[in-house]
Amino acid sequence: MPTNPVLVVHGGAWAIPDEMVEAHLNGVRNAAAAGWRALERGGSALDAVEEAVVVLEDDETFDAGRGSFLNRDGKVQLDAFIMDGATLRGGGVGCVERLRNPVRAARKILSGSPHVYFVAEGAERFAAEHGITLCRNEDLVIPREVERLREYQAQDSSHGNDLFAPTISHDTVGAVALDRDGNIAASTSTGGTLNKAPGRLGDSSLIGCGCYADNLSAASSTTGWGEPIMKLVLAKWAADRVESGSRPEWVAQEAMNYLKQRLNGHGGIILLDAQGRFGIAHNTPRMAWALHTVQKQEAGITRNG
Ligand code: ASP
Repeated sequence: MPTNPVLVVHGGAWAIPDEMVEAHLNGVRNAAAAGWRALERGGSALDAVEEAVVVLEDDETFDAGRGSFLNRDGKVQLDAFIMDGATLRGGGVGCVERLRNPVRAARKILSGSPHVYFVAEGAERFAAEHGITLCRNEDLVIPREVERLREYQAQDSSHGNDLFAPTISHDTVGAVALDRDGNIAASTSTGGTLNKAPGRLGDSSLIGCGCYADNLSAASSTTGWGEPIMKLVLAKWAADRVESGSRPEWVAQEAMNYLKQRLNGHGGIILLDAQGRFGIAHNTPRMAWALHTVQKQEAGITRNG
């Protein structure tokens, strides 16, 4: 008996300002529609999360692909991960500068390499050798981000910690999906944090931190301040609790409480198990998400407090 597919996407968790709500809603809706089309065509959960994340990477609203935050040197440096819950195969890229859609390269690593990660030039070389066209870093940089970096760098350095305040954008994107065969998958893609040191890798592309998928537990994608999330290996932490019998809806909220209580971290998470039960939670003021099931399509910018 085929399973009813489910797809959940997110477009970051932070204090999304009112004037940016519509762009976020459109972005997550378009991504959910693309992922759902893949599932309707009979595609796998992996296909669905890849297609959804490509749409979000292409949308300049988000901190992924073109339009991402700039690092200290004024360059876009991207990280992405994709994982198959059926086989536990994963593919990740870190610190890539010449890939429009890092998730496409991550998928090629998952399917065409015995390895799990490639970083920097090695990742770009792997992508090029597998038919992905490289772009120039300038093609990923947009004026809004040049201005944002300029303003940030002009501030007094005592503002250092503010970089991690929830008012600073966390527009990392991600998706989790369940397909007709009952398999789940997850993907996360990011430009990381504003003014990051070149070579800094966040949680998003780290297996079990920003992304995880195992049919026996859950598929998960996080966003938020990366360092606390990776210290807690949060995506795997959440998946393990689902495996122990807790409902994803409850675990997602617990994961956010744990992040806050243990390390004063902030962010958001989406979580989905192979029965189609899901959770969406954040401890930031707002989070952008969309959901597609056989019965309903929904998108929201939820609020806390
Ligand atoms: N988690 C990402 C990172 O630390 C950033 C984000 O979600 O906005 O790289």
